[in-house]
Amino acid sequence: MKIKTKLTLGVGLLFLLIILLSIVGAKYINELKADTENILVANYNSLEYSRNMLVALEEGSEKALQKFEINLQNQEKNITEIGENETTAEIRNNFELYKSNKFDTSFQTIIRKDIFRLMDMNMQAIQRKSEVAKVTADKAVFWIVLAGTLCFLIAFVLLVNLPSNIANPIRELTDSIQQIADKNYSERVHFESHSEFGQLAKSFNTMAAKLEEYNNSNLAKLMIEKKRIETLISNMHDPVIGLDENLRVIFANEEAIKISGLAQNDLVGKSAQELSIRNDLIRTLIQDIVFSEATVVEKQSPIKIFSGNKESYFEKETLHISITPTGENITKLVGHVIFLRNITSYKELDIAKTNFIATVSHEFKTPISSIKMSLQLLENEQIGKLNGEQKNLVDSIKDDTNRLLKITGELLNMTQVESGNIQLSILPVDPKEILLYAINANKTQADQKQITFEIDCPADISKIHADSEKTAWVLTNLISNAVRYSYENSMIYLTMRQKENQVQISVRDTGQGIAPQYKDKIFDRYFRVPGTKKEGTGLGLAISKEFIEAQGGKISLESEFASGSTFTISLLKADS
Ligand code: ADP
Repeated sequence: MKIKTKLTLGVGLLFLLIILLSIVGAKYINELKADTENILVANYNSLEYSRNMLVALEEGSEKALQKFEINLQNQEKNITEIGENETTAEIRNNFELYKSNKFDTSFQTIIRKDIFRLMDMNMQAIQRKSEVAKVTADKAVFWIVLAGTLCFLIAFVLLVNLPSNIANPIRELTDSIQQIADKNYSERVHFESHSEFGQLAKSFNTMAAKLEEYNNSNLAKLMIEKKRIETLISNMHDPVIGLDENLRVIFANEEAIKISGLAQNDLVGKSAQELSIRNDLIRTLIQDIVFSEATVVEKQSPIKIFSGNKESYFEKETLHISITPTGENITKLVGHVIFLRNITSYKELDIAKTNFIATVSHEFKTPISSIKMSLQLLENEQIGKLNGEQKNLVDSIKDDTNRLLKITGELLNMTQVESGNIQLSILPVDPKEILLYAINANKTQADQKQITFEIDCPADISKIHADSEKTAWVLTNLISNAVRYSYENSMIYLTMRQKENQVQISVRDTGQGIAPQYKDKIFDRYFRVPGTKKEGTGLGLAISKEFIEAQGGKISLESEFASGSTFTISLLKADS
């Protein structure tokens, strides 16, 4: 039954019973009122008249007889009982005889008897009528109690059933909705009733079933996707490690597990920060994540890892992953993926190349030096005079030999840099001396182009902490470049300044300068500005950078295209 019908029936019945109770009550109260009124009017008055007549008869005076007459007349108008009329008529008769027979006392006795009969008649009537009133009252009590009990029963049934009838399904439904909110989509409600709650339960169960189906289908798809990605990652030949936003390892493929030297269970699911305390590799891998929050892919120098009884080289790339959650517009970091590209084979080739270049340039040095010596002997006039053509030839061979010597020198230096074997002997040295040496080394080329040097150097310049040979090589290279890339008859400015705990040496030319787009690449190995006509290897500035940085210094470039460039090296003061 529907709740609405239940409520209407219950409350309606209660309402009807209250009306019935009121009608029954009113009816019986009216009946009782009529019964008592009847007794009062019909019999009580007759008794009153009879008593007055008896009193008047006893007195016997004229006045009393008048009173008797009035009461008798009243009695004659109040005939209500069977036989009352005859008795009253007899009293009238005897009273008239009593009056006409000069108040004969025998009549007085008869009259008194008649009055007593009248009184008796009325008394009996009163008793009978009060019996009737009692029956009426009993009936009233019966019907009122019956209606009241029915009202009570219905109200009690409603009181006991109705609240729980409404509240229980609502509570069950609320609990089930809570379960659905907690993603327990198998939850169902079971109302047997055909009420509105029954329909609600049906709709709820349909909704839950659809949600379950949707959830399961989605989950299955997601599981397949997850498996696919996991298989893909585990089949990759390069190590890959995934971290969540709290740096907990969420996945690591076989290669990553192999190089980490840990068991899968000791790596996956563990905090990378905790692992890094015991594992050097993990520490190296996460240090850039811990210290920077950048969201771009970062490249760093190769990482050397000893695993599987051999040294391997890996290039690390860290990808910071951010997403914008559905319904939100702020992106948040959800994790990091670390890729390690195995570059061992390239590295081995590179080492082989470096070794080859080192061997070749080293082997070249001796024959080139002996060619140089032979040329000097040829130039010696004591051995024999050269004619003009021969002299030109010797000069040309000399130039080429010098160039070859420069190249082999640069290549040797480069091999030192690449193998990380820069041998330094750092001592306090006078920077002025080094500068003058470098200027001297470039004097001939500068003179050829009528280039002059302007030196600006404070007399009290401090000594620097440097390897004089390497620094001289760098300055020679910078001045050589300045001379080569300057126009004829120009100036080269050499400035030395003291700045805090450093000494800065600048080489400024007024040549063609370097275009801004090449500024970042100029110190890269083998890089040459496109279109450069002069001979060169593109190694000079790269070696200079390595040499200066190995000494704890810095090298920088300021250049304005078409109006010259300034290279500055900064090295630590000896007393700092
Ligand atoms: P190399 O001079 O042997 O080519 P470097 O490493 O010394 O190699 O220089 C790299 C490149 O930088 C040069 O090829 C040249 O294009 C450019 N460069 C270097 N110094 C200057 C300069 N002072 N003015 C203009 N360009 C320069």
